[in-house]
Amino acid sequence: MNLAQFPRRHYTPYQTPIEYLPRLTRLLGGPDIYIKRDDLLGLAAGGNKTRKLEYLMADALAKGCDTVITCGAVQSNHCRLTLAAAVKEGLKCHLVLEERVPNSYNPDASGNNYLFRLLGVEGIRVVKGGSDMMGEMKRVADELAAQGRIPYIIPGGGSNEIGALGYVSCAEEILTQLHDMDLNIDRIVCASGSAGTHAGLVAGMIGNNANIPVVGIGVNRKKDIQTEAVFTLANKLLTKLGARTAAEPADVVVFDDYVGPGYSLPTPAMVEAVQMLAREEGILLDPVYTGKAMSGMIDLIRKGYFQKGEKVLFVHTGGSPALYAYTDVTLHGVR
Ligand SMILES: *Cc1c(COP(=O)(O)O)cnc(C)c1O
Repeated sequence: MNLAQFPRRHYTPYQTPIEYLPRLTRLLGGPDIYIKRDDLLGLAAGGNKTRKLEYLMADALAKGCDTVITCGAVQSNHCRLTLAAAVKEGLKCHLVLEERVPNSYNPDASGNNYLFRLLGVEGIRVVKGGSDMMGEMKRVADELAAQGRIPYIIPGGGSNEIGALGYVSCAEEILTQLHDMDLNIDRIVCASGSAGTHAGLVAGMIGNNANIPVVGIGVNRKKDIQTEAVFTLANKLLTKLGARTAAEPADVVVFDDYVGPGYSLPTPAMVEAVQMLAREEGILLDPVYTGKAMSGMIDLIRKGYFQKGEKVLFVHTGGSPALYAYTDVTLHGVR
């Protein structure tokens, strides 16, 4: 597909590696497991939002904006990376943080929260869980505009049809690498949150007639709501790109069995997955997204959903800075 028709900034001067995980594969005794290291993307401590921001920041700059506003949870990787991209482009950045878990905001917390301050955020507003986040961001935008600034609002997770182009681009990068590696992958697994990553990969695989199925492991919403969000965004992307094919409902696979008590709340299976990848492969997952997505993949291997003889590619979407806000639970387990 012709992604070059959309303006883009470049934040990662290389393709992220695809690596085989021999020890994890042997330990689980199921499919051959590969990992796409999108935790090694550019900007401050990388992650999937870096790819989305390449397109979102290009749009903000094309519109002459001088300040970006975005939102997320109190340990948001998306907020950290949006702020880092703004710094790199010489723009200011305001964050609206949602306390999805009541009283979870602590200005002195470690992890991403610490990095918001280190990276020089211009403003942080904390709002209650369930708030109208777009409404809150518009309020900040109005205040800044009244001071003569030109604000640009990036939705939560960067998951609109501009940001999600980053994962159409990732799908194409994966296909190029697999071709060069003579590696025929059967299925791709990723975390499915604000849906841009999952939808971009689905659109990229369909639009390129590659048709490698993508399995999304939900971290927040119920299966039917998440499936609809991914499906709608994937088709918007395919339309925007002028593809001649559309996604069908069967192209969107979501499991919501690994969320546990709620978004960002630890599960014993997440702790097992984080420890397993650290101790078998020396790879740092995160407690909110990739830890739960990997716990889902491990369970689906144990249940025989993914089988011996298959080749599965797990997309590591980043997030390891959040580990430092979860040190006790990731070492000692859920109490
Ligand atoms: C945001 C995020 C995700 C989820 O990606 P979406 O595009 O929002 O679905 C997965 N992993 C990490 C580390 C993230 O920060």
